Amino acid sequence: MTKKERYAFVLDYFEKHAPNAETELIYDNPYQLLVAVILSAQCTDKRVNMTTPAIFEKYPDVAALSHATFDDLFPLIRSISYPNNKTKHLIGMANMVMEDFNGEIPSTVPELVKLPGVGRKTANVITSVVHQQPNMAVDTHVFRVSARLGLTTNAKTPLQTELQLIKNIPKDKIYIAHHWLILHGRYICLARSPKCGECALRPACKYYKTLIKAS
Ligand code: SF4
Repeated sequence: MTKKERYAFVLDYFEKHAPNAETELIYDNPYQLLVAVILSAQCTDKRVNMTTPAIFEKYPDVAALSHATFDDLFPLIRSISYPNNKTKHLIGMANMVMEDFNGEIPSTVPELVKLPGVGRKTANVITSVVHQQPNMAVDTHVFRVSARLGLTTNAKTPLQTELQLIKNIPKDKIYIAHHWLILHGRYICLARSPKCGECALRPACKYYKTLIKAS
């Protein structure tokens, strides 16, 4: 199977079976999504979703969050990973959005990455989820699944994975392909023991081919 055929097989499968894939983070607007994505670093979406309702109740918008003090916000974040840094990042983010972006969450990657706590992956999530921009956020699931399937070749960093994926996935499918690969990694192509027996992508998967050869 050529790389082109592999991409076609994988994308066709997901398009048929997960046409409405979306983030599992719960949010109502770009402000809430940005808070949730900042909190989700090294933390599960499930845990973030348990944490955010109290934050959004106390700080319903970015202006309200910009007035929070560390001591106000920290108790609401305490139960998730890296609460110190995340508390500082959220307050810093809200202040910068108020001062430099007129209170509006920016809508481009170069602007978003200026915000505290926002790296390329977070900026790609926000722009692809909120604005359907053709940006691919590469987390550990996307990195692993892309490599196993053979969508990427010798990618050593998330950026290399990102660049190979956006080169090969049609522009209008990139924003949803991010969710397809994440969800596949979260529920089927698990890090330690991928559920190859249940996986419909076996005919296209390089990793599976090596398993068969070795057995
Ligand atoms: S066949 Fe196995 S390794 Fe390949 S994508 Fe499916 S679960 Fe992952």
